[in-house]
Amino acid sequence: MILAFVQSAAENASRFGRIAGVVLMFGAAFGAGGQTAGAVSAQASTLMVAYAARVAGDDARTRVVLDFDTRPTFEARYIANPDRIVVDLPATAFAFAESDLKATGLFRDIRYGSMDASSARLVLTAQRPAKLVSAEVLANEDGKGFRLVLDAELIPQQDFDRLVKEQAWDAQTEATAVAADEVAAIGAPQDEYVIAIDAGHGGIDAGAAGATTKTPEKDITLAFARILLEKLQKEPGIHAVMTRDGDQFLSLSQRVVLARQKGANLLISLHADTLRQGDIRGATVYTISDKASDHMAAQLAERENFSDAIGGVAHSDEPSEVTDILLDLTRRETQAFSISMAQAVVGSFEGQIGLINNPHRYAGFRVLQAHDVPSILLELGFLSNNEDEKLLLDPVWRDKVAGLMVEAIRRYRAPVLANGG
Ligand SMILES: [Zn+2]
Repeated sequence: MILAFVQSAAENASRFGRIAGVVLMFGAAFGAGGQTAGAVSAQASTLMVAYAARVAGDDARTRVVLDFDTRPTFEARYIANPDRIVVDLPATAFAFAESDLKATGLFRDIRYGSMDASSARLVLTAQRPAKLVSAEVLANEDGKGFRLVLDAELIPQQDFDRLVKEQAWDAQTEATAVAADEVAAIGAPQDEYVIAIDAGHGGIDAGAAGATTKTPEKDITLAFARILLEKLQKEPGIHAVMTRDGDQFLSLSQRVVLARQKGANLLISLHADTLRQGDIRGATVYTISDKASDHMAAQLAERENFSDAIGGVAHSDEPSEVTDILLDLTRRETQAFSISMAQAVVGSFEGQIGLINNPHRYAGFRVLQAHDVPSILLELGFLSNNEDEKLLLDPVWRDKVAGLMVEAIRRYRAPVLANGG
């Protein structure tokens, strides 16, 4: 019974990997015209509702229960580093209080949320390795709805590692990424300069939250991305695309793959994080580096990279060492362009909007990993600072900053254009 469950979860996982990883993801992110308000409300009417939830147990055995209005289908699997149980669900509206699924017992973190228009996910991050000894959907006795009951039990680390291996999930994700890479640049306009705007976070990964208003970072980055898109679309010779245009989760690698697939010449990832130091404010521009410029940059990169863990993404091994000299050269050239773009942004922001001191910093951000697409990550401001939070929510300020970004892009491109390229 248990074995059969694990087996089918593995099969489903690989199927999910292929479908969600490529077809659905690209459809959702770059569908013609993006998500319109009509499309969103049409989706909303088909949502399953999870109207109640509870969790109970100790550090040996923990039960998680979710109540649904209709019978849910689900697929469960295991992911290592950190050790997680991931449960995929159809599109779901989570209508219960966050405190109902507070991490307890075997789990140190419990997240749930939408992945894209047609799927949602529950991610149980284990305090210690755990496995589902039973997972089933039962009809509620009172005839109202169904409940998904997940029973997890502590297992030895080597058993958990074996579960992960048996699923061969890592191999699948890798295959998906490669397949996506292979079709890269198809449909990329030849004569247009393509800019990929990446609204940080989304779906299950809400990012940071405003100190006062609790506004999730994912909403701020998306709102700002849309303004920037609109402005860039008016720029001659520029074709702007978004990695996501809805409340959807994308892994950091998926963002890079999507950008590359659209033939991006530049990737701009937008964020507005929080810091422990509430008095720090202003914009920061980041480029990639394996050595962080400072402690704050290192901290931020670590938190940003944690997005994949929140979303239940399996990391196939770290990118292999670059031995190919050509790849290395491309990387160095790309890096030079990224730095030049970061300087252009700082130049155009200076004296116009608040910048932190040393506003160009660097760290190992996963979303900036493309070896052939110049990439920057822009922290618009910090949601941990009250003044910054006000600005981040202010449409006038947003419009101004988007305008300055367009100017920065013009600045950055000026030498290239002057050389006829
Ligand atoms: Zn962020």
